[in-house]
Amino acid sequence: MGSVLILGGGITGIQAVFNLSQLGIETTLVEREKELGGNLKSLGSTFPEGKQASDLIENKVKEIRSSQKTTILTGAELSSITGESPDFKASLKTSKGTREVKSSSIIVATGFMPFDPAEMKHYGFGKYEDVITALNLARMIKDGKLLRNSNGKEPASLTFIQCIGSRDLHTHTYCSYFCCMYAVHLATVIKEKYPQCMLNILYMDIRTPFCAELNYEEARRRGVKFYRSKPAKIRAGEGSEHLTIQFEDTLDGKLRFLNTEMVVLSIGASPPDGTDSLASSLKIDCEESGFFKCEQSPVFTKVKGVFIAGSASGPKDISSCLAEGSAAAAQAAILLRE
Ligand SMILES: Cc1cc2nc3c(=O)[nH]c(=O)nc-3n(C[C@H](O)[C@H](O)[C@H](O)COP(=O)(O)OP(=O)(O)OC[C@H]3O[C@@H](n4cnc5c(N)ncnc54)[C@H](O)[C@@H]3O)c2cc1C
Ligand code: SF4
Repeated sequence: MGSVLILGGGITGIQAVFNLSQLGIETTLVEREKELGGNLKSLGSTFPEGKQASDLIENKVKEIRSSQKTTILTGAELSSITGESPDFKASLKTSKGTREVKSSSIIVATGFMPFDPAEMKHYGFGKYEDVITALNLARMIKDGKLLRNSNGKEPASLTFIQCIGSRDLHTHTYCSYFCCMYAVHLATVIKEKYPQCMLNILYMDIRTPFCAELNYEEARRRGVKFYRSKPAKIRAGEGSEHLTIQFEDTLDGKLRFLNTEMVVLSIGASPPDGTDSLASSLKIDCEESGFFKCEQSPVFTKVKGVFIAGSASGPKDISSCLAEGSAAAAQAAILLRE
């Protein structure tokens, strides 16, 4: 029986390998970082149900590590690929040198890169210690330490700014899909643990589809304040203990100044580095957004035997990634039967 090569060891790639190993199919999982887990490694409680990210990953990783049919290569990347389905020959660059792998199909699950807000000088990221990204905040909550970088104290107030690096002509024009849902979820988690902390969310539109709408209602019920605005700038007065956000509330047209001790930038998703060159090695296309292009329906590409799954084709939540990881595994298994 042939084998399947999976590129990317986030939740999507792990799910694909997990399903293929349940079917007794040989797999090689290639992850360029030292550890599996992708962006979920930084998260604690996740929307919509508050499941711990580690619980979603660890049991499956344990299963695939114990499977004799699975080879896991971390700190590794694809160098080149020749042949076509069912006889792909991949050359992999690993920490121990080059390794050749034969496979009947390839699942690309290389995910996304969190948007880097370094260029957004008007939000003071890199200038003010208490301006952080949502990923920084998620890590703090996961570690049980919500503290201001400037003074090591718990914040009395915290404000999220939405659509950072998304829906913006200067960065990415697309909506990153998950950042309204994670902001509402993280705000609710903070309110539960630190009820005295004043929480604000500055948004352009709140996009919380299906069950996440209940989380939005819950956040409002718990006292999280929502203002419709994309703020112009953030400043800190000399010797001041707080940051001031200047914005126009687009619901009533009023100019407002909001004082807050911490600012959280709700960053969206960018395509990971190397997406273009991977696309040309695999002879598949990318969308204008820079993410991989699916043809006709999710997971398929224009090349037989090359499948795309999870956020490699655009920002997605965990449940969609799990569904696509399984769908790609099923397609790879069908090809093997053929
Ligand atoms: C702050 C934040 C909070 C979030 N909270 C939630 C939440 O509460 N609930 C929810 O449903 N979703 C949430 N998300 C979205 C969630 O992170 C994604 O749904 C999920 O991580 C996508 O998984 P993935 O495996 O497709 O991609 P990733 O997690 O990006 O994993 C891709 C993997 O591929 C590897 N890789 C990349 N390129 C290569 C290459 N060329 N070769 C080999 N390996 C490669 C990467 O190193 C990475 O390990 C959140 C996102 C952010 C930014
Ligand atoms: S999900 Fe929300 S915060 Fe993220 S880009 Fe879309 S509208 Fe903006």
